[in-house]
Amino acid sequence: MEIIRTPVAMTAWANRMIAAGDSIALVPTMGYFHEGHLSLMRQARKLAKRVVVSLFVNPIQFGPQEDLARYPRDFDRDAALAEQEGVDVLFAPAVAAMYPEGSRTRVAVAGLTGGLCGGSRPGHFEGVTTVVAKLFHLVKPRFAVFGQKDFQQLAVIRRMTADLNWDIEIVGHSIVREADGLAMSSRNVYLSAGERQSALGLSRAIRHARQRVREGLADAAMLLREVREILTATPGIAVEYVECVDEKTLAPAARLAPGVVLAMAARVGTTRLIDNDDLFAEEVK
Ligand code: AMP
Repeated sequence: MEIIRTPVAMTAWANRMIAAGDSIALVPTMGYFHEGHLSLMRQARKLAKRVVVSLFVNPIQFGPQEDLARYPRDFDRDAALAEQEGVDVLFAPAVAAMYPEGSRTRVAVAGLTGGLCGGSRPGHFEGVTTVVAKLFHLVKPRFAVFGQKDFQQLAVIRRMTADLNWDIEIVGHSIVREADGLAMSSRNVYLSAGERQSALGLSRAIRHARQRVREGLADAAMLLREVREILTATPGIAVEYVECVDEKTLAPAARLAPGVVLAMAARVGTTRLIDNDDLFAEEVK
């Protein structure tokens, strides 16, 4: 596996691969790999001849009060794991290389970014779309793999890719969970043992919602009341939002039907956790 540190070297590598007729799949990450990241890499491996994983803790997607400074990092472990997954290139540029002095341009997707996580993280999605746009230009992928875990991010990136006419297939990968249901996240290392127990309230609420949908519940307001009750009854959880929304437009849904996603964010101690579920996934497949 090659480790590339500069945008110029990244593009030179991509140009060589494309000239040789090789397709590229990109997996953008902020590192501190867990099984969720590794499954995205495995999926990328199946899609294209060459796999590039980017590892970049993108400062412009963090708010001033957020966890940029303490975001977990372990480059050597990440590099070893990516190599084991057969990744061709780990692209790990310095912040100054991605945002050199004088850089001013931002890419923004209107409409999809004001609600859900965008409500409490102003500017977050603009940071995400800007860095992903830059990565798309540098890596020239045919495929880019993103997790459903960040479901709003996936919707925003699909919209950006279509709107900017990128010939890139955006592939969504289902959420990878711990055996007890907790959605894997690099931020889970922040949780104390007690907080980790509290955090299970999110996946418990999702299991309840799936069960209610299987029973035929179609009223989103009722489902949201029940989900909220489960979350607020869990000690240590402070709910930020719980919503049922259309998976593409992110507009609130009144009726539970295929294409509706239950999405939630909550704080457990100082850690912000998100989770979501495509409530009809089994029925649709
Ligand atoms: P991050 O490093 O947290 O920015 O995540 C990099 C990519 O991995 C994003 O596309 C995430 O949606 C995805 N991802 C993170 N956690 C999970 C998970 N538990 N299951 C599936 N994908 C995930």
